[in-house]
Amino acid sequence: MSTHDTLSGKQTTPTPTTPDPLATTAPHCERIDLHCHTTASDGLYAPAELARMAHAAGLDLIALTDHDSTEGLAEAQATGAPLGLTVIPGIEINTSLAETRGDAHVLGYFIDPADAGLQANLNQLRAARERRGERMVERLRAAGLNVTWERVRELAPGAIGRPHVARALIETGYATSVSDAFDRYLNWGGVGFVPRYRIYPHDAIRMIRAAHGVPTLAHPAHTYDLEERVLPTLVQQGLMGLECYYGPYDEATVNWLLGLANRFGLIPTGGSDYHGPNIHPTPLGGRYVPPATVDRLWAASRATRATPAEPFTLPQPRL
Ligand code: AMP
Ligand code: ZN
Ligand code: FE
Ligand code: FE
Repeated sequence: MSTHDTLSGKQTTPTPTTPDPLATTAPHCERIDLHCHTTASDGLYAPAELARMAHAAGLDLIALTDHDSTEGLAEAQATGAPLGLTVIPGIEINTSLAETRGDAHVLGYFIDPADAGLQANLNQLRAARERRGERMVERLRAAGLNVTWERVRELAPGAIGRPHVARALIETGYATSVSDAFDRYLNWGGVGFVPRYRIYPHDAIRMIRAAHGVPTLAHPAHTYDLEERVLPTLVQQGLMGLECYYGPYDEATVNWLLGLANRFGLIPTGGSDYHGPNIHPTPLGGRYVPPATVDRLWAASRATRATPAEPFTLPQPRL
Protein backbone atom coordinates (compact mmCIF):
# COMPACT_ATOMS: atom_id res chain seq x y z
CA MET A 1 0.00 0.00 0.00
CA SER A 2 1.41 3.39 -0.84
CA THR A 3 0.39 5.85 1.82
CA HIS A 4 1.91 9.01 0.44
CA ASP A 5 0.73 9.46 -3.12
CA THR A 6 0.60 13.09 -2.45
CA LEU A 7 0.26 15.00 0.66
CA SER A 8 3.93 15.85 0.80
CA GLY A 9 4.17 16.92 -2.86
CA LYS A 10 2.07 20.05 -2.63
CA GLN A 11 3.58 21.82 -5.64
CA THR A 12 2.38 19.06 -7.98
CA THR A 13 -1.07 18.85 -6.45
CA PRO A 14 -3.77 20.36 -8.67
CA THR A 15 -5.96 23.08 -7.23
CA PRO A 16 -9.14 21.63 -5.71
CA THR A 17 -12.28 22.49 -7.54
CA THR A 18 -15.63 22.78 -5.89
CA PRO A 19 -18.26 21.44 -8.24
CA ASP A 20 -19.96 24.82 -8.49
CA PRO A 21 -23.53 24.34 -7.32
CA LEU A 22 -24.42 27.77 -8.71
CA ALA A 23 -23.34 26.79 -12.20
CA THR A 24 -24.35 23.14 -12.29
CA THR A 25 -27.09 20.83 -11.19
CA ALA A 26 -26.37 17.70 -9.20
CA PRO A 27 -24.91 14.97 -11.42
CA HIS A 28 -26.91 11.80 -11.91
CA CYS A 29 -25.62 9.43 -9.27
CA GLU A 30 -26.89 6.27 -7.67
CA ARG A 31 -24.18 4.86 -5.43
CA ILE A 32 -23.17 7.43 -2.86
CA ASP A 33 -20.97 7.62 0.23
CA LEU A 34 -20.86 10.97 2.01
CA HIS A 35 -18.48 10.13 4.86
CA CYS A 36 -14.92 8.88 4.38
CA HIS A 37 -11.39 9.65 5.52
CA THR A 38 -7.95 9.57 3.86
CA THR A 39 -4.31 10.08 4.89
CA ALA A 40 -5.13 13.81 4.93
CA SER A 41 -6.43 12.91 8.42
CA ASP A 42 -6.73 9.51 10.10
CA GLY A 43 -7.65 7.30 7.13
CA LEU A 44 -5.24 4.61 5.97
CA TYR A 45 -5.45 5.26 2.23
CA ALA A 46 -4.16 8.21 0.24
CA PRO A 47 -6.85 10.29 -1.51
CA ALA A 48 -6.02 8.83 -4.95
CA GLU A 49 -6.23 5.29 -3.60
CA LEU A 50 -9.52 6.02 -1.90
CA ALA A 51 -10.94 7.44 -5.14
CA ARG A 52 -9.85 4.31 -7.04
CA MET A 53 -11.33 2.08 -4.33
CA ALA A 54 -14.60 4.03 -4.39
CA HIS A 55 -14.83 3.57 -8.16
CA ALA A 56 -13.98 -0.14 -7.85
CA ALA A 57 -16.73 -0.47 -5.22
CA GLY A 58 -19.23 0.87 -7.78
CA LEU A 59 -19.66 4.33 -6.23
CA ASP A 60 -20.30 7.33 -8.46
CA LEU A 61 -20.23 10.07 -5.82
CA ILE A 62 -18.32 10.46 -2.57
CA ALA A 63 -17.67 13.29 -0.17
CA LEU A 64 -14.25 13.40 1.49
CA THR A 65 -14.79 14.34 5.11
CA ASP A 66 -11.31 14.40 6.60
CA HIS A 67 -10.90 15.80 10.10
CA ASP A 68 -9.80 19.45 10.00
CA SER A 69 -8.31 19.22 6.50
CA THR A 70 -9.22 19.72 2.85
CA GLU A 71 -5.74 18.66 1.66
CA GLY A 72 -6.91 15.37 0.17
CA LEU A 73 -9.55 16.88 -2.05
CA ALA A 74 -7.63 17.94 -5.15
CA GLU A 75 -5.94 14.57 -5.53
CA ALA A 76 -9.16 12.61 -5.04
CA GLN A 77 -10.94 14.81 -7.59
CA ALA A 78 -8.11 14.48 -10.11
CA THR A 79 -8.18 10.69 -9.79
CA GLY A 80 -11.95 10.44 -9.62
CA ALA A 81 -12.88 12.66 -12.59
CA PRO A 82 -11.60 10.41 -15.41
CA LEU A 83 -13.24 7.42 -13.69
CA GLY A 84 -16.62 9.18 -13.61
CA LEU A 85 -16.47 9.58 -9.83
CA THR A 86 -17.65 12.92 -8.45
CA VAL A 87 -15.83 13.99 -5.28
CA ILE A 88 -17.55 16.73 -3.33
CA PRO A 89 -15.69 18.74 -0.71
CA GLY A 90 -16.42 17.95 2.90
CA ILE A 91 -14.91 18.30 6.35
CA GLU A 92 -15.44 16.74 9.79
CA ILE A 93 -14.89 18.83 12.88
CA ASN A 94 -14.84 17.08 16.24
CA THR A 95 -16.36 19.25 18.97
CA SER A 96 -17.44 18.91 22.58
CA LEU A 97 -20.88 19.31 24.09
CA ALA A 98 -20.64 21.74 26.97
CA GLU A 99 -22.94 20.06 29.49
CA THR A 100 -22.31 16.36 29.02
CA ARG A 101 -18.60 16.40 28.02
CA GLY A 102 -19.72 14.17 25.15
CA ASP A 103 -18.45 14.54 21.59
CA ALA A 104 -20.42 15.98 18.71
CA HIS A 105 -18.85 15.67 15.27
CA VAL A 106 -19.98 18.21 12.70
CA LEU A 107 -19.69 17.44 8.99
CA GLY A 108 -19.64 20.25 6.45
CA TYR A 109 -20.57 19.65 2.80
CA PHE A 110 -19.63 21.95 -0.09
CA ILE A 111 -17.31 24.07 1.98
CA ASP A 112 -15.18 26.21 -0.34
CA PRO A 113 -11.61 24.90 0.07
CA ALA A 114 -10.23 28.15 -1.39
CA ASP A 115 -11.78 30.19 1.44
CA ALA A 116 -8.90 31.85 3.34
CA GLY A 117 -10.86 32.16 6.58
CA LEU A 118 -11.69 28.44 6.50
CA GLN A 119 -8.05 27.51 5.94
CA ALA A 120 -6.91 29.76 8.80
CA ASN A 121 -9.37 28.02 11.13
CA LEU A 122 -8.31 24.57 9.90
CA ASN A 123 -4.64 25.45 10.44
CA GLN A 124 -5.44 26.39 13.99
CA LEU A 125 -7.29 23.11 14.59
CA ARG A 126 -4.40 21.10 13.12
CA ALA A 127 -1.84 22.98 15.21
CA ALA A 128 -3.86 22.09 18.32
CA ARG A 129 -3.91 18.45 17.15
CA GLU A 130 -0.10 18.50 16.95
CA ARG A 131 0.25 19.80 20.49
CA ARG A 132 -2.27 17.30 21.76
CA GLY A 133 -0.47 14.44 19.98
CA GLU A 134 2.86 15.42 21.53
CA ARG A 135 1.31 15.61 24.98
CA MET A 136 -0.33 12.19 24.53
CA VAL A 137 3.06 10.69 23.66
CA GLU A 138 4.65 12.42 26.67
CA ARG A 139 1.99 10.96 28.94
CA LEU A 140 2.36 7.45 27.51
CA ARG A 141 6.16 7.64 27.87
CA ALA A 142 5.83 8.88 31.45
CA ALA A 143 3.73 5.77 32.09
CA GLY A 144 6.61 3.62 30.76
CA LEU A 145 5.37 2.92 27.23
CA ASN A 146 8.05 3.16 24.61
CA VAL A 147 6.29 5.09 21.82
CA THR A 148 7.97 8.01 20.11
CA TRP A 149 6.64 11.27 18.72
CA GLU A 150 8.81 10.79 15.63
CA ARG A 151 7.05 7.53 14.78
CA VAL A 152 3.59 8.93 15.45
CA ARG A 153 4.41 11.87 13.19
CA GLU A 154 5.57 9.49 10.45
CA LEU A 155 2.29 7.61 10.67
CA ALA A 156 0.37 10.90 10.30
CA PRO A 157 1.17 12.67 7.02
CA GLY A 158 -1.83 14.97 7.53
CA ALA A 159 -3.99 16.04 10.48
CA ILE A 160 -2.86 13.94 13.43
CA GLY A 161 -5.37 12.16 15.65
CA ARG A 162 -5.67 9.51 18.30
CA PRO A 163 -5.86 6.73 15.67
CA HIS A 164 -2.22 7.53 14.70
CA VAL A 165 -1.12 7.19 18.32
CA ALA A 166 -3.13 3.95 18.42
CA ARG A 167 -1.20 2.61 15.41
CA ALA A 168 2.14 3.39 17.10
CA LEU A 169 0.90 1.52 20.18
CA ILE A 170 -0.07 -1.48 18.03
CA GLU A 171 3.33 -1.52 16.30
CA THR A 172 5.12 -1.59 19.64
CA GLY A 173 2.93 -4.40 20.90
CA TYR A 174 0.95 -2.44 23.51
CA ALA A 175 -2.40 -2.94 21.78
CA THR A 176 -3.94 -5.44 19.40
CA SER A 177 -6.19 -3.07 17.42
CA VAL A 178 -7.13 0.59 17.15
CA SER A 179 -10.16 0.13 19.38
CA ASP A 180 -8.08 -1.90 21.87
CA ALA A 181 -5.61 1.03 22.03
CA PHE A 182 -8.51 3.43 22.63
CA ASP A 183 -9.95 1.20 25.35
CA ARG A 184 -6.62 0.69 27.14
CA TYR A 185 -4.94 4.09 26.79
CA LEU A 186 -6.61 6.75 24.69
CA ASN A 187 -10.17 7.18 25.87
CA TRP A 188 -11.09 9.62 28.63
CA GLY A 189 -9.50 8.28 31.83
CA GLY A 190 -6.72 6.38 29.99
CA VAL A 191 -3.04 7.16 30.73
CA GLY A 192 -2.56 8.61 27.26
CA PHE A 193 -5.69 10.74 27.22
CA VAL A 194 -5.32 14.48 26.72
CA PRO A 195 -8.43 16.63 26.14
CA ARG A 196 -8.66 18.21 22.71
CA TYR A 197 -8.75 21.94 21.99
CA ARG A 198 -12.24 22.59 23.20
CA ILE A 199 -14.60 24.00 20.65
CA TYR A 200 -18.36 23.58 20.54
CA PRO A 201 -20.76 22.52 17.80
CA HIS A 202 -21.84 26.12 17.24
CA ASP A 203 -18.20 27.04 16.47
CA ALA A 204 -18.04 24.32 13.82
CA ILE A 205 -21.43 25.33 12.42
CA ARG A 206 -20.39 28.97 12.10
CA MET A 207 -17.04 27.99 10.64
CA ILE A 208 -18.71 25.81 7.98
CA ARG A 209 -21.40 28.36 7.16
CA ALA A 210 -18.71 31.06 6.84
CA ALA A 211 -17.13 28.89 4.11
CA HIS A 212 -20.50 28.41 2.34
CA GLY A 213 -20.85 24.82 3.58
CA VAL A 214 -23.83 22.80 4.76
CA PRO A 215 -23.32 21.80 8.45
CA THR A 216 -24.55 18.34 9.39
CA LEU A 217 -24.49 16.46 12.70
CA ALA A 218 -22.50 13.21 12.28
CA HIS A 219 -23.45 9.80 13.77
CA PRO A 220 -25.99 11.38 16.14
CA ALA A 221 -27.71 8.29 17.54
CA HIS A 222 -25.82 8.15 20.84
CA THR A 223 -25.83 11.86 21.51
CA TYR A 224 -27.33 12.43 24.93
CA ASP A 225 -30.51 14.53 24.89
CA LEU A 226 -30.48 14.65 21.10
CA GLU A 227 -34.20 15.22 20.65
CA GLU A 228 -35.00 17.46 23.57
CA ARG A 229 -31.98 19.71 23.74
CA VAL A 230 -29.17 19.18 21.23
CA LEU A 231 -31.13 19.32 17.96
CA PRO A 232 -33.39 22.25 18.90
CA THR A 233 -30.29 24.25 19.91
CA LEU A 234 -28.12 23.33 16.94
CA VAL A 235 -30.90 23.92 14.42
CA GLN A 236 -31.32 27.41 15.83
CA GLN A 237 -27.55 27.86 15.45
CA GLY A 238 -27.64 26.96 11.75
CA LEU A 239 -27.45 23.17 11.48
CA MET A 240 -28.81 21.99 8.10
CA GLY A 241 -28.33 18.21 8.01
CA LEU A 242 -28.46 15.04 10.11
CA GLU A 243 -26.50 11.86 9.40
CA CYS A 244 -29.36 9.36 9.43
CA TYR A 245 -27.88 6.67 7.16
CA TYR A 246 -24.71 6.05 9.18
CA GLY A 247 -22.64 2.91 8.54
CA PRO A 248 -23.64 0.59 11.38
CA TYR A 249 -27.13 1.96 12.20
CA ASP A 250 -29.97 -0.55 12.04
CA GLU A 251 -33.28 0.11 10.33
CA ALA A 252 -35.08 1.24 13.48
CA THR A 253 -32.34 3.77 14.25
CA VAL A 254 -32.32 5.09 10.68
CA ASN A 255 -36.12 5.49 10.77
CA TRP A 256 -36.03 7.25 14.12
CA LEU A 257 -33.38 9.67 12.81
CA LEU A 258 -35.29 10.22 9.54
CA GLY A 259 -38.29 11.23 11.67
CA LEU A 260 -36.15 13.73 13.55
CA ALA A 261 -34.64 15.11 10.33
CA ASN A 262 -38.14 15.59 9.01
CA ARG A 263 -39.38 17.25 12.20
CA PHE A 264 -36.42 19.66 12.35
CA GLY A 265 -36.23 20.35 8.61
CA LEU A 266 -32.78 18.76 8.24
CA ILE A 267 -31.32 17.04 5.17
CA PRO A 268 -30.83 13.33 5.92
CA THR A 269 -27.23 12.47 4.93
CA GLY A 270 -25.20 9.32 5.37
CA GLY A 271 -22.14 7.25 4.68
CA SER A 272 -19.71 4.62 5.87
CA ASP A 273 -17.15 6.67 7.87
CA TYR A 274 -14.59 4.51 6.12
CA HIS A 275 -11.03 4.92 7.45
CA GLY A 276 -9.50 1.68 6.12
CA PRO A 277 -9.73 -1.90 7.39
CA ASN A 278 -10.27 -2.64 11.08
CA ILE A 279 -11.15 0.89 12.20
CA HIS A 280 -14.87 1.30 11.70
CA PRO A 281 -17.01 -1.69 10.68
CA THR A 282 -18.64 -0.47 7.45
CA PRO A 283 -16.86 -0.94 4.11
CA LEU A 284 -16.53 1.98 1.70
CA GLY A 285 -19.92 2.42 0.05
CA GLY A 286 -21.42 -0.08 2.47
CA ARG A 287 -24.37 2.10 3.43
CA TYR A 288 -27.19 3.10 1.10
CA VAL A 289 -27.67 6.85 0.71
CA PRO A 290 -30.59 8.00 -1.48
CA PRO A 291 -29.74 10.16 -4.53
CA ALA A 292 -32.33 12.70 -3.31
CA THR A 293 -29.89 13.53 -0.49
CA VAL A 294 -27.33 14.76 -3.02
CA ASP A 295 -29.97 16.86 -4.80
CA ARG A 296 -30.94 18.46 -1.50
CA LEU A 297 -27.34 19.15 -0.49
CA TRP A 298 -26.68 20.66 -3.90
CA ALA A 299 -29.71 22.92 -3.59
CA ALA A 300 -28.85 23.93 -0.01
CA SER A 301 -25.33 24.72 -1.08
CA ARG A 302 -26.61 26.81 -3.97
CA ALA A 303 -28.79 28.74 -1.53
CA THR A 304 -25.92 29.40 0.90
CA ARG A 305 -23.69 30.58 -1.94
CA ALA A 306 -26.31 33.02 -3.12
CA THR A 307 -26.21 34.91 0.20
CA PRO A 308 -23.14 36.55 1.77
CA ALA A 309 -21.57 34.50 4.57
CA GLU A 310 -20.71 35.98 7.93
CA PRO A 311 -16.94 35.65 8.55
CA PHE A 312 -15.94 33.60 11.59
CA THR A 313 -12.66 33.08 13.42
CA LEU A 314 -12.27 30.32 16.01
CA PRO A 315 -11.42 31.36 19.57
CA GLN A 316 -7.76 30.93 20.55
CA PRO A 317 -7.04 27.56 22.20
CA ARG A 318 -6.54 27.57 25.96
CA LEU A 319 -4.12 24.63 26.02
P1 AMP B 1 -9.42 12.55 17.73
O1 AMP B 1 -10.14 13.41 16.73
O2 AMP B 1 -7.95 12.63 17.62
O3 AMP B 1 -9.91 12.73 19.14
O4 AMP B 1 -9.76 11.03 17.35
C1 AMP B 1 -11.10 10.66 17.22
C2 AMP B 1 -11.26 9.75 16.02
O5 AMP B 1 -10.78 8.46 16.34
C3 AMP B 1 -12.72 9.55 15.67
O6 AMP B 1 -13.12 10.49 14.73
C4 AMP B 1 -12.78 8.15 15.14
O7 AMP B 1 -12.55 8.15 13.74
C5 AMP B 1 -11.62 7.46 15.81
N1 AMP B 1 -12.05 6.61 16.93
C6 AMP B 1 -12.60 6.99 18.07
N2 AMP B 1 -12.84 5.94 18.89
C7 AMP B 1 -12.41 4.85 18.23
C8 AMP B 1 -12.38 3.46 18.52
N3 AMP B 1 -12.83 2.98 19.68
N4 AMP B 1 -11.88 2.63 17.59
C9 AMP B 1 -11.43 3.11 16.42
N5 AMP B 1 -11.43 4.41 16.08
C10 AMP B 1 -11.91 5.28 16.97
ZN1 ZN C 1 -11.52 9.66 12.15
FE1 FE D 1 -16.88 11.18 13.61
FE1 FE E 1 -15.65 10.40 10.46
